[in-house]
Amino acid sequence: MRWTKTLIPTLKEAPAEAEIISHQLLLRAGLVRKLAGGLYTFLPMGLRVLRKIEAIVRQEMDGAGACEVLMPALQPPEIWRQSGRYEQAAQVLFKVRDSSQREWLLGPTHEEVITSLAASEINSYRQMPVTFYQIQTKFRDEIRPRFGLMRAREFLMKDAYSFDISDEAAQASYQKMYDAYVRIFGRCGLKAFPVEADTGVMGGKFSHEFMVPAQTGECEVAYTEDGQYAANLEKAASRGPLTPAPALAEQPLEQFPTPGVRTIEDLAAAPYHTPGHLQIKTLVYLAEGKPVLLLLRGDDSLNEAKAAAALGTGVFRPATAEEIASLMGAHPGSLGAVGFDKARVLADEQLRGASGMTTGANVDGFHFRHVCVSRDIPAAVWKDLRTVREGEESLHGPPLKIRRAIEVGHVFKLGTKYSEAMSATFLGVDAQRRPLVMGCYGMGITRTLQAIIESSHDQNGIIWPIAVAPYAVCLTPLSASAESEVMQVSERLYAQLGAAGVEVIMDDRDERPGVKFKDSELVGFPLRIAVGEKSLNQGMVEFCPRGGTKELVPVDAIIGRTLEFLRA
Ligand code: ATP
Ligand code: MG
Repeated sequence: MRWTKTLIPTLKEAPAEAEIISHQLLLRAGLVRKLAGGLYTFLPMGLRVLRKIEAIVRQEMDGAGACEVLMPALQPPEIWRQSGRYEQAAQVLFKVRDSSQREWLLGPTHEEVITSLAASEINSYRQMPVTFYQIQTKFRDEIRPRFGLMRAREFLMKDAYSFDISDEAAQASYQKMYDAYVRIFGRCGLKAFPVEADTGVMGGKFSHEFMVPAQTGECEVAYTEDGQYAANLEKAASRGPLTPAPALAEQPLEQFPTPGVRTIEDLAAAPYHTPGHLQIKTLVYLAEGKPVLLLLRGDDSLNEAKAAAALGTGVFRPATAEEIASLMGAHPGSLGAVGFDKARVLADEQLRGASGMTTGANVDGFHFRHVCVSRDIPAAVWKDLRTVREGEESLHGPPLKIRRAIEVGHVFKLGTKYSEAMSATFLGVDAQRRPLVMGCYGMGITRTLQAIIESSHDQNGIIWPIAVAPYAVCLTPLSASAESEVMQVSERLYAQLGAAGVEVIMDDRDERPGVKFKDSELVGFPLRIAVGEKSLNQGMVEFCPRGGTKELVPVDAIIGRTLEFLRA
């Protein structure tokens, strides 16, 4: 390819909207352009990288025994009603209407479609194990599309679905996909590590996410340094807070005035001096429209994913000030669950056995002290609701650390949630009908592309691993005139590299060397071969690996040296 025949609109400055380095470099290197928030056009260089990642994914999926299909992006809502996700996933569903006002959905994922296929096509144990995959555009009405391709409205995903006759067999299919993910990310040059994950709206039994460590990642991962434990913060567990609840003697409940107290901090300060770990925080939520109180220690914070698991639904939100006032008869700052019987009460495990606690009295300006949770809030149901903190002991001992990461893939053991809901059954060896046992496996192709940039760049631009680079070599003649010896040698090398199977782009622009060097570094080609008059006079060309050091190589040896570099 010749630079002047393609489109590589590099930018000196990053557009103001690009907050993170990978988003800036995507735009500056001319890989993509934004059409609207969360919608991007892939330009030639970006598309080449995308196709390479896809090719790696296809090879590894095929190698793991999965077979490729392609499902429609447009889906009938009926199958989503059947699975029960029409409401559950409502926030992310893009809905469209046809000319007769019939509703359709733009698929955010394809469990429903594949399960309805399996319901009609898989009938016997003899047809399993089988895993289908596709690489396809997904649509999600994200609340906050941002960070370029990281959280887009339309993005490319590889999604795979396994079907098995038993849990045991499904575990083997799951392991195959898990292993394929490890290889895929490795080949893309990513240090992705698996962590235990929450199963969320997908349902199912257990799952792992593949995370790429990054300061700018939207996920937080709790892990131990011995490598024995890593979990998404949404799911992470510990042996409990660093400040344990003291064993205080039970005393009679006592109401006392707390005028002006609004927050945990207010009550911790003078004149009350009640530290957070001796307070009960009372949160009022509406789960599928019904009020529920969530109780936590004052110094703990609610983990929404754990709350969803505890509530048995992803459809919940904090109650508004008016809803709270009408339910509780008091305002935030004075809320509590003592003597309250108008809603379900879920209490965090850390409050189990706690006594000597302070909580709102459900009368504005008053609190209770000496609360003994089991005695005074007997209706409370114990649940894990809190978010773990750095430094707490992990379940196996060593302290937890927390770091940010980008989720690039997610593998789930689904079990029979979808097959039961959609009557996808098979005849077993014993001639009994049973639901298919499923797994599902997502990988963000476009997010992975950007995660590679986020983890592989320097101050001059992107550093593509060879396996996914748009071109392996940027051949840079330092003169553009066709008659010059520089150009003639460059043309010869261009043809020779091409004939040797090397993916090469020739920067044939009539630009200053400085501009060409800057751009080739910005776009991130793994190797630059510069042909200039001065070195050519000594029979040499410049060999410069991206991020490495320049050396002069004899013109005759450059093809061999390049092949060696690309093989290494
Ligand atoms: P997140 O927690 O980041 O919203 P998710 O849990 O909703 O992701 P899955 O449903 O597991 O994502 O989708 C599989 C993969 O698709 C994710 O691991 C991620 O790589 C990618 N992905 C999900 N949402 C987006 C998005 N809005 N833009 C780009 N990629 C996405
Ligand atoms: Mg996920």
